[in-house]
Amino acid sequence: MSEQRVCQSFEVREQLLQAGLSEGTLNSELGQGEQAFADALYLLTRMRFDDSESRCYWSEIISHKEGLALALGRDVGLRVAVCDYFMNLHPRMREPVIVEVQVLLQKERGALVDELTGLYNRRYFNDAIQREVERFKRFGQRFSLLMVDVDHFKRFNDTYGHLAGDDALQSVAGVLRDTARTFDHVVRYGGEEFALILPHTDAEQARAAAERLRQAVERKPVQVQGTAVPLTVSLGTATFPEDAINARDMVGRADEALYEAKITRNRACSYTEKSRQFPRAPLGLTMLFASPAHHGLALRVRNISFGGMLCQSSEAVLPGTRVEVVLAGDHPGAPALRLVCLVVRLERESEGGPYEIALSFEGLGEDLRRALVRLVELEQGGGL
Ligand code: GH3
Ligand code: MG
Ligand code: MG
Repeated sequence: MSEQRVCQSFEVREQLLQAGLSEGTLNSELGQGEQAFADALYLLTRMRFDDSESRCYWSEIISHKEGLALALGRDVGLRVAVCDYFMNLHPRMREPVIVEVQVLLQKERGALVDELTGLYNRRYFNDAIQREVERFKRFGQRFSLLMVDVDHFKRFNDTYGHLAGDDALQSVAGVLRDTARTFDHVVRYGGEEFALILPHTDAEQARAAAERLRQAVERKPVQVQGTAVPLTVSLGTATFPEDAINARDMVGRADEALYEAKITRNRACSYTEKSRQFPRAPLGLTMLFASPAHHGLALRVRNISFGGMLCQSSEAVLPGTRVEVVLAGDHPGAPALRLVCLVVRLERESEGGPYEIALSFEGLGEDLRRALVRLVELEQGGGL
């Protein structure tokens, strides 16, 4: 980590400590480098700004705080300076409310927790999975998703009643929580479905975790009026970025694996093992050839994966040709990627129509993968 990055977060940290935020909050909520400015403003205002915008606001707020202290002859504190800044100098807040932080945190936590099971809810899930995608883009850290569905739960409800069903869901939730690692996110996704986001977990580890969870549920029958009733779950796993290029696709892929597990039930299936293919994302971008033989020729990209691209072209390029292309997003801030590819297929649907060209990437490194995820997300609008 560079000296400047450490310095930036240190200064922000000092100001927040002076403002009364706890060490614990700062340890868990404050990122490094530029990110610290955005995190600090989020902690103080619950508004999200991007990193460079936050850095400007932060330095203006600190100057404003010093200006207020000079004018009034006393230190008004960071919060008052932030409030005056965003209400009067650079209006971004129209109707702020003053609330004790513990009350706010309790309310925020409540909004993210499922009442019946005490697990996180879907709203938390959407943020958490997006955060993992961001972490991949920043640090290249992969993660896995497990979708879990209780088997024959309608039958359980019909046999033992809804209240016993609710107890059973609490029991399964408890097993999932106790079996997961402390930094896994365990979520009630809806009804009798649960989801686990496993940070720092590859496909093989995800499969092992799914099998461990399956066995743990199987080993703990549900107590219904003193009788032990067996209950099982089916699980589907998917891993980022092998199986999906954004958060929405991740859920779809884990669901597909779950669907397969449901064929026999009480089983864990992995999308990564099932498909072994790269996920494809539709994309409608124009790309230019950079290699001399086809310089300036434009291709329309139909879809893209970590393996390669399917494109349309007005001119034929023969299979076996090695080409260099530049893929730039339409969206402001989208990266321009220089990629070395091999033409692997050339087809034409109709006489006189455009050619369809399949390109495979030659050695797509980790940096290019991350840039590709960023590009597809910007062009598609990302998110869930
Ligand atoms: P499968 O093995 O294919 O998943 O079958 P299933 O019966 O579990 O699936 P199905 O989707 O047909 O039924 C799900 C049942 O879960 C129906 C619904 O009443 C029950 N359920 C969903 N949420 C709750 C809840 O909060 N409490 C109770 N008691 N039941 C719930
Ligand atoms: Mg279900
Ligand atoms: Mg079910």
